Parts: sequence; C-alpha cells; structure tokens
Amino acid sequence: MIQRLFTLVLALFAATTTAHAEPQGLVVLHCGQLLAEPGQEPMGESTVVIENGVITNIFNGIVFVDAAPGMPQNTHIDLTDKFVLPGLIDCHTHLTFELPPMQMRLRKQLTEDATYEAVDGTHNALKTLMAGFTTVRNVGSGGAAIYALRNRIAEGVIPGPRILAAGKSISVTGGHADPTNGINPALSPALTSTDGIANGPDEFRHATRERIRQGSDLIKITSTGGVLSNTAAGLGQQMFDDEIEAVVETAHMMGRKVACHAHGTDGINAALRAGVDSIEHGTFLDESSIALFKETGAYLVPTIHAGKFVSEKASDPAWFNPAIKEKAEAVGPIIQDALARAHKAGVKVAFGTDVGVGAHGTNALEFVYMVEAGFTPADAIKAATVNAADLCGIGDTVGKIAKGYQADIIAVDTNPLDDVAILQNVSFVMKGGKTFKHAPNKDAE
Ligand SMILES: [Zn+2]
Repeated sequence: MIQRLFTLVLALFAATTTAHAEPQGLVVLHCGQLLAEPGQEPMGESTVVIENGVITNIFNGIVFVDAAPGMPQNTHIDLTDKFVLPGLIDCHTHLTFELPPMQMRLRKQLTEDATYEAVDGTHNALKTLMAGFTTVRNVGSGGAAIYALRNRIAEGVIPGPRILAAGKSISVTGGHADPTNGINPALSPALTSTDGIANGPDEFRHATRERIRQGSDLIKITSTGGVLSNTAAGLGQQMFDDEIEAVVETAHMMGRKVACHAHGTDGINAALRAGVDSIEHGTFLDESSIALFKETGAYLVPTIHAGKFVSEKASDPAWFNPAIKEKAEAVGPIIQDALARAHKAGVKVAFGTDVGVGAHGTNALEFVYMVEAGFTPADAIKAATVNAADLCGIGDTVGKIAKGYQADIIAVDTNPLDDVAILQNVSFVMKGGKTFKHAPNKDAE
C-alpha cells in the first residue's frame, strides 16, 4: 500500500514537472518595421526574440538565432512584409453579450440565464483576439461567467484576450446598471448589494467588497444614467457623492481601481472629485471636468464606437423604445466632440469601445473615430497600448514590445501611422508568445 502511494505521488510529480520543464525553442520574429514603444518612432527591419512567452531580446536588422546545444530548434516567423506593433488593449468591453434590437433583448432577458453569457463570451473572446486585441478590460457583465472566461483563457484552455474583469457594474436601484428596469416585478428578483444594486454608502461598500470577493480585478460603477437602460431617467447623476466616495475608498483600500460610467457633467465631476481612475464615455464633460481630469490624473475612456452605434440605430423603431431613443439621440452627436475637446486640452485618454453595444471584433473602428476627433494615428495607437496598459495597472508587462514584456504582438500589412484604418485588418496575432493568426500580406499575393 505504501509502495503504491509512493509510486502515485512520484507519477504526479513527474507529470507536473515534465509539463513545466519541457524545453522549448525560442520564437524569433523577423519584422519589416517595428513600433516597439508606441509614442516613439518605429524601427526599420528588426528581430524580436521570445522565450517561454516573454520577450528576451530585440535586435536591429534581420538576425537568425541558432538553438543552444541540446535545445529544440528555434521557430523563425517571417513578418518582413509587415508592420509589427504591440497587441492592442480595449479598456471597455462587454464580452458576454451583444446588444440585439429591443424585442429580442427583452426575450433574451426573460428566457436566458447566465450560462448563455458563458457561451456567448467564449465566441466573442475569440473574435476579439483575432481582431488584434490581446487584452481587454471587461467593465460590466451579468453573472459570474466572465470570471470563468478570464481564468480559462489565462490557463490556455480556450483562445481569447487577457481579461481584467469588473464583474457586475454596481448601480443604484432603478439606475443604469439595474437589470430589472422596466421588467414586470413578478418576473424580477429584489436585488441587493450582493447582486450589485446598492443605496447609501454602507451598501456601496458592501457591494464593492462582494465584487472583490467574487474575483473582480477592478470595480465598475454607474454614477449617471445611461443610454441603454430601459428607463426614462435621463443621463444625469444617479449616485450621491458619498456613495461614489464609499466605492472609491473601499476599492482602493483593497487594491482595486474604479471605472465610472458617466455622461452628465454633474456625475462626471462628482466621480472625478471622489478619485475614480477612469471616466467611461464622458459625453457632457465641460471645462470644469477637464480641469478635474488634469488635477486627478484620471483617464477618459471615450467609447465613440458605442455613441455612433446607438445614434445610427435611434432612427429604427425596432431597436429602441422611446426612453432609450431619446437618450441615444442626445449622446450620439456630441460624444466625439467631447473627446476632441478633452484630447486638445491634454486629458489622458485610454482606448475603449464599449463593444457589446456594437459588434465584437470591430473594436479597431474606434481608431478611425479617434483620428476624426483630432488624434494623430501615433497618439491613437499609444492610447490603445501604453496608456491602456497604464490604466489597467499592467504597464510593466504589457503595452510595449520590450525586454521582459509579455509577447503580445500583432502585425498589419501597411503602416498604421500613415492610415490607422488598417488596424481593422490585423493579419498576425500573437499572445503570450503563441501565434493565433498569421495571414499572408495581401499586397504580396
Ligand atoms: Zn459599457
């Protein structure tokens, strides 16, 4: 008996050690042009060396690297006809759902439970990765599926971007992130702070701690009304100042950042004064908001993609009821101008789309909208790499192609610093040193 146990333990030990100690060759990328650190000038022909998913060397020119004696062959990947840059980061996604027209939305709400979120999230995560987004900050989901999705992707079980998950957005009763707005009360549970619905500072503290206990990497709150909540409650402030302060204090105490959805000026400014780390949307930001952004160092996450999407659908009666239509018409035309004013004034911007409102996989359309709002392509790319990684709190491992950084690397067929629209056609995607997509250069065909 003792002998058998001993053998079993040895076998387990062998299985775990071989899984980790299996020697791997290096992965060597040959790049036509390399934007190693967005914000700086791109390099010409370059070689990037990757070991166990981490970048270990960058050389000028095309260099072939021989395997060390006794080691497996190295893998050389030819990207000499491509422009290579760090994997993109979207700071505002909703991977576990995608907005359908109103009737379908209500039907899904009444017939589908959280398991559907898990399935949809798996599908959307793959689309996101294939679009060149190797990291996302998922700021709002229904149930706990997002944590499982995050963890299984991190374990390499399914393909998808790195996920920082907020879990359920925290909202006041009847507020933007109350999922029971407009639903027959007989079919709606009474939601509490455990479910992310809170009223008063104490409940907001509890709701924040609940999210952290569940596994949230950050906290998402909705300080103002929102376009797509099924209620005619406008776009102004919905959380009292002391409620926002309670969340920020609790989250920061436990090492979590706070992302705050806000449209109305009052709710934007209250959140900035309370010390949130980012304002999502920021539609009605004014000069006083800009001053607060600069004073606190908070990021603006613009989500023009969603603003344009709801604006376009507002004229189609199948999409929204009158309450939502009115809000969509108010936000759509001005959200891009808010970004333009903030950027011009020097507010820090991190790339974010709100996909899940628009279609998953179309995230890079935001680059086009940012350039329309006055960004240079270089600044827009920096917002989706260096800045976004900084907002996510992972700027020391992600967002650049540099020694010691994760090998999250993408490539496109033409120079995105000339025309950023090419980022909608990413032809090479690597995450953590593993290649997920490698399409030939269209010009070379
Ligand atoms: Zn959102």
